[in-house]
Amino acid sequence: MAAKEFDVIVIGGGPAGYVNAIRAAQLGLKTACVEKWIGKSGKPALGGTCLNVGCIPSKALLESSALYVNAKDASAEHGITVGDIKMDPKGMIERKDKIVTELTSGIAMLFQANKVEWLQGAGKLLKDNVVEVTDHEGKVATYKAKDVVLATGSVPMDIPSAVVDNKRIIDSEGALNLTEVPKRLGVIGAGVIGLEMASVWSRLGSEVVIFEAMDNFLSAADQQIAKDAAKHFKKQGLDIRLGAKVTESKASAKDVVVKYADKDGDHEEKFDYLLVAVGRKAFTDGIVDEAVGLEMDGRLVKADDNCKTNIANVWAIGDLVRGPMLAHKGSAEGIAVAQRIAGQYGRVNYDAVPWVIYTHPEIAWAGKTQEQCKADGIDVVTSSFPFAASGRAKAMGATEGLVKVIADAKTDKLLGVHIVGANASELIHEAVIVLEFGGTSEDLASTMHAHPTLAESVMEAAHGIHKSAIHMMNRK
Ligand code: FAD
Ligand code: AMP
Repeated sequence: MAAKEFDVIVIGGGPAGYVNAIRAAQLGLKTACVEKWIGKSGKPALGGTCLNVGCIPSKALLESSALYVNAKDASAEHGITVGDIKMDPKGMIERKDKIVTELTSGIAMLFQANKVEWLQGAGKLLKDNVVEVTDHEGKVATYKAKDVVLATGSVPMDIPSAVVDNKRIIDSEGALNLTEVPKRLGVIGAGVIGLEMASVWSRLGSEVVIFEAMDNFLSAADQQIAKDAAKHFKKQGLDIRLGAKVTESKASAKDVVVKYADKDGDHEEKFDYLLVAVGRKAFTDGIVDEAVGLEMDGRLVKADDNCKTNIANVWAIGDLVRGPMLAHKGSAEGIAVAQRIAGQYGRVNYDAVPWVIYTHPEIAWAGKTQEQCKADGIDVVTSSFPFAASGRAKAMGATEGLVKVIADAKTDKLLGVHIVGANASELIHEAVIVLEFGGTSEDLASTMHAHPTLAESVMEAAHGIHKSAIHMMNRK
């Protein structure tokens, strides 16, 4: 029997792949998406890492744990008396699972509504744009498409010094499913995932130690922001040990012994659980037959700025290719590629990608850091506005942190905005829009902002570039 034909087959149904499939279908292309994920309930699920074990479940737990801390610690200041507050991690995990199920089923409904065919199982690209799909019962079928989009995402990176057993030594998925609060939690890696998971469990009462091999904290972030954030994390009780490389871990039935080395020598610590959060790697296992001749770029699939691979009509998007491993970057590529396949214009601005770390306070940035500007030889003016000077931040009890604006000293072009503070994840989009339009710090400053809002702090920081901030002393 001849293979069923599509205009587009997407392999992978995460935020890069499912978005690509929906957009392609919207544009009138006959589209299928191959997805092999089996959800926690044992049923096939769309949404990939992000919806099942990434962005969404982590934010659900961050929200629950923040509510708990606020009720416990912040109520009295507001004149609220609360009774004995207790946290049941099982309830928190159940709520998270419900949110995940609702959202992943939502994608299945969107597929139906847009007439995207979901091919359940593992896809493999063969020569001449033939896609072989092995379903969950092991049955194999082949399909053909004019264009194939690879979107198989990423999986946690592993290290020999801490092999994940998902009993005592866990990865991020394990940390999203703990049903007891560890007395002591060790975390390897002070990156985004390590910090977010550390925050959840520390808020619920765990004593958390984070081991970070690098001497710099959050080296990808602007260092003024990273330093300010480190101060707040320390105050919260997060014990972040920089220059500390984990060399060995041994798990028993009830704990994990971790060996690590720092400038003072070798040390040992005991934990109830150890979270390995040392980054993620592209998932390419068995996704493309060797005969296809797909070019790689180290662990990644090689793709140009338009997400084209070296094979005609084969595209690659999301965590599988160069660029930050962020859901919205993958989705933007998914939309752009669908439009290019349909013969339309599709563009991704890699210079205006928002980065967010959902700790308390949140950290967010877009554009260049001051360190990057220096390395690129760009002469800049910077200005920082502290949330402590914002009326709204005071009313909210959220005076930690600051907004830093970086502008080109000659042209005033906005180069970067860096925020540590409440709602930084939302505020950063002001910067993203100005960056997208190639605007100046003056554009940001002269845009009217509602009072009282945290967003005014972005405006004031931008005013500071021109020494015209009203609610702080301007630089001399
Ligand atoms: P994925 O989401 O990994 O999806 C790939 C899909 O392909 C998977 O569903 C997989 O089953 C499927 N697949 C693989 N091989 C095959 C095959 N052969 N056949 C069929 N299907 C296949 N990013 C953010 O932007 N914001 C956040 O707040 C955030 N938080 C995170 C928190 C955690 C704990 C983690 C782990 C990640 C987080 N991320 C966050 C990163 C984000 O999840 C990824 O950047 C994003 O999921 C990448 O999307 P993707 O579509 O490229 O890949
Ligand atoms: P990210 O890639 O942002 O998730 O961050 C992962 C972090 O883990 C990086 O900052 C690495 O330096 C750190 N890391 C990797 N291996 C080790 C190790 N053996 N011990 C301590 N930190 C590590």
